[in-house]
Amino acid sequence: MDYHADHQIPMSSPDLTEAEIQAVTDVLRSTSLSMGPNIQAFEAAFRAAIGVRHAIAVNSGTAGLHLCVRAAGIQPGERVITTPFSFVASTNVLLFEGAVPVFVDIDPVSGNIDPELVRQAAADLSAGESTAKKWLPRQGAPQGGALKAILAVDVFGQPAEYDAIRPVATTLGLGLIEDACEALGSEYKGRKAGRLGDTAVFAFYPNKQITTGEGGMIVTDDDAAAEMMRALRNQGRAPGDTWLDHTHLGYNYRLDEMSSALGAAQMRRLDDLLAKRRQVADWYGERLAEIPWVEAPALLASTTRMGWFVYVIRVAPGIDRTMVTCQLESAGIPSRPYFSPIHLQPYMVQRFGYRSGDFPVTEDLAVRGLALPFSSVMTEEQVAVVCKVLSGLI
Ligand SMILES: *Cc1c(COP(=O)(O)O)cnc(C)c1O
Repeated sequence: MDYHADHQIPMSSPDLTEAEIQAVTDVLRSTSLSMGPNIQAFEAAFRAAIGVRHAIAVNSGTAGLHLCVRAAGIQPGERVITTPFSFVASTNVLLFEGAVPVFVDIDPVSGNIDPELVRQAAADLSAGESTAKKWLPRQGAPQGGALKAILAVDVFGQPAEYDAIRPVATTLGLGLIEDACEALGSEYKGRKAGRLGDTAVFAFYPNKQITTGEGGMIVTDDDAAAEMMRALRNQGRAPGDTWLDHTHLGYNYRLDEMSSALGAAQMRRLDDLLAKRRQVADWYGERLAEIPWVEAPALLASTTRMGWFVYVIRVAPGIDRTMVTCQLESAGIPSRPYFSPIHLQPYMVQRFGYRSGDFPVTEDLAVRGLALPFSSVMTEEQVAVVCKVLSGLI
């Protein structure tokens, strides 16, 4: 499905140069394939780029989020306010720990969690079981679990509304986890994505702003959380533990040296990669402005810098998105619905009894959102081809 003939425009594409190939080859000629100098260099690059005390490389964004959940001390049955409009991993990491995701709906412009709903839900969930009930799923949530944290997602690269969310967390003593997996290079009111939660995670699957093949990076200023997450990444080995000492129940979430070298090389090109992505987004924006039934992505005033991840348009209400996808497909242009709501995934419906209509804004954006081909290596001609096909459809 993700295979495309050469003449076709790919959905996404990594942006690799000889420098990356050389960096990975150098590792293969060395003797150190794990926990060597490259993971340290990659982490150092992130500390510098984001301006944080700690960066911890892991083997996926999902693994990083899971460690943030562990570090926040979230226990089985405890509740975490989060969004149903995301990639499934942001909810799954809560389920891994037996926690209860409490979904609230989203802002229709950005697709980010609605801060007013976060405030209301947090107040009600903290006030006792009878007021909590209206926010909980129909079934599958154990009685009486404490509200423990908020997990916000920077959707498509735009940071969530942290100036409204942070005070809720502070007032109620909740953890705040930032899923910044789509937001490398973004800024919220001049503050970098990755610095907006207590802990935050970036991800490096090949469609992200930088890639390591598979990989992720946790960033935080919290010394204790960082020490715990370093231990959990490495089979639960605390500082001072030998190879067969395991202070904690941990995981193998380490990032290997080949991936780390690739990541460090990509980080040296970060500004260039982001500038190229911005240029492609601008080319789309200019051309799509002329197509009345297409809503181009709208940037919030709070997004003072955008690290473009995907380019998701919305078809106007009443337009048949399937028809659009099929017509693009027959012109050799891939496109993807984006996101598919988490609460309507089969395993979520089965466990929690969710139904269509539970989160109407999420469902509306899910029905109308369409990711177009997007990457830093896309040419203006390719963008023009996509937009020309779109403009001829309706
Ligand atoms: C990419 C992504 C992740 C992490 O994905 P991995 O494939 O595990 O690296 C998590 N959350 C969001 C919102 C993402 O887009």
